[in-house]
Amino acid sequence: MPSNDGVRAVARSFRVLVIGGSYGGLAAALNLSDLAHGRKYRFDSNPDTKPPSWRIPLQITIVDERDGYFHLIGAPKSLACEKYAAESWTKFQDIPALKSPDFKVIQGTVSKVDCSSKIAHILDTQTKENRTEKYDYLIAASGLRRVFPVAPQSLRREEFLEEAKKHVENVRTAKDGIVVVGGGAVGIEMAAELKILYPEQKITLIHSRNRLLSSEDLPDDFAEKALEILREENVEVILGQRVTDTTAVDSGKSRVWRLTLANGEQLTTGLVLSAISRSVPTSTYLSPEALDEEGLIKIHPSLQFSGNVPNSEHHFAIGDLAAWSGIKRCGGAMHMGQYAAENIHKHMLAECTGEKPTFKSLTPFPSVMGLALGKKCAVYSPDEGTRASEELMDGMFGNDMANTICRNYLRLAESPKA
Ligand SMILES: Cc1cc2nc3c(=O)[nH]c(=O)nc-3n(C[C@H](O)[C@H](O)[C@H](O)COP(=O)(O)OP(=O)(O)OC[C@H]3O[C@@H](n4cnc5c(N)ncnc54)[C@H](O)[C@@H]3O)c2cc1C
Repeated sequence: MPSNDGVRAVARSFRVLVIGGSYGGLAAALNLSDLAHGRKYRFDSNPDTKPPSWRIPLQITIVDERDGYFHLIGAPKSLACEKYAAESWTKFQDIPALKSPDFKVIQGTVSKVDCSSKIAHILDTQTKENRTEKYDYLIAASGLRRVFPVAPQSLRREEFLEEAKKHVENVRTAKDGIVVVGGGAVGIEMAAELKILYPEQKITLIHSRNRLLSSEDLPDDFAEKALEILREENVEVILGQRVTDTTAVDSGKSRVWRLTLANGEQLTTGLVLSAISRSVPTSTYLSPEALDEEGLIKIHPSLQFSGNVPNSEHHFAIGDLAAWSGIKRCGGAMHMGQYAAENIHKHMLAECTGEKPTFKSLTPFPSVMGLALGKKCAVYSPDEGTRASEELMDGMFGNDMANTICRNYLRLAESPKA
C-alpha cells in the first residue's frame, strides 16, 4: 500500500538483533532504520542517491552490557578527568536518535546465540534473569573485552563516574609520578593525555621494544614521530626495557611502587598503569565454527558470517570483532556498520520482492592510525605517509578526543524523523 510520499510498505516485518551498542552497532542500527523508513541512510553524503522505494516494518533490539553509549576512544582522557567522563557516557534512554518505536534496548550480556533457531540467550542486567530474543537477522558488534585502565569496567553510568573519580584521585595524589607500561597506541595516548591534564606530574612511558608501536604494521618514521612528540611534551620514554618486577613499598604515609627493569635499573613511582594486556574477542556466545583461531568472527566482504554455521546469510559481524585486515579502528567499525545495514536491507527486500540482491563488498582496510598526543596529533596513512601537527589534532580529535565528531557522525542528538 503506497503512503503519502509514494513509498510502499512490504507485507512482512523483520526483527534485527544487534549485540553491542557502540560505534559499529549504533551505525548499523541507525542506518538500517533510515533505509527501512524509505530514507537515504545517514552516512550517505552522495546528493544523487535515491531513497529506497519500499518501507520495511522493523524491530531493532540492541543488547549491551553497558547502560549507554561510551566513547571508548576518549578513555585515556575520560578516566583521568571527571568533567570529560560525564560527557563521554550517555545512557541509551537519553539518546534522541534511539527514541523511536523501531528500537528496543536491553541492558544485558549475550551468553549464547543459536544460529539455527535464530535465538539469542541474554542475561538481563536489571532482572538478573535469563531471557531469549528471537531474530531474523543478527549483527555481532560486541568488540573486544578490555581491562582497566585501557577501558572502564563499570556497566552503569553512575558507577563509571565513580570509577573515573577514584582514578582521578589516584593520578592526582600519586607520589613520585606515574609510570605507564606499554608503548602501543593506548599506552602512548594514556601517557600523553596524563601529561596534558596533570603537567606537574612526572609521567614515564616504558616499552619493552626499541621502537614504540612495535606490534603494529606501521612505518618507523611514524613511531619516531610519536616518540619525538611525547618527549617534546615532557613525557619520559624508556625504550627496550621490560619491567621484570613490581613491588609495593610503604614509604611512611603513602605507598609507592618499585619497578625493576630488565637491565637491573630500579625506579619508584606512585602509580603504575598497565597498557599491555591483550584485548580478548567477546565472541564466546558463538560456536567455534563461526570463529578464526583468534576468536574473531570470519566474514565475507558482505559482512555475512563465512564460517560453517546455519543461516549464515542472516548473520553479520562488524567492527573489532570481525576478522578483517587493517588496524582496528572506530571509523572502520562505523563503516562496517553502514555496509551491514545496506546489505541487510537488500536481503530483506529480496525476501519480500524476489529482487536479487547485489551486496556491497567491503574492500581490505589499509593500516591507518591517528594518535592524539596532547596538543598534537600524529597520523599515518599509506597515501599521505606520516604527518603531525596541532591543526591535525583539531580536525581529527577536536578538543574532546573526537567525542563530538563521533556523536555528530552517528547523529545521536537528532530525533528520528516521522
Ligand atoms: C583507549 C583506546 C583508544 C582508541 N583510540 C582510537 C582512535 O583514536 N581512533 C580509532 O579509530 N580507534 C581507536 N580505538 C579503537 C576503537 O575504539 C575500536 O576500534 C572501536 O571501539 C570498535 O568499535 P566496536 O563497535 O566494534 O566495539 P566496541 O566499541 O568495543 O563496543 C562493543 C560493545 O559491545 C558491548 N558488549 C561486549 N560484549 C557483550 C555481550 N556479550 N553482550 C552484550 N554486549 C556486549 C560492550 O559493552 C560495548 O558497548 C581506541 C581504542 C581504545 C581502547
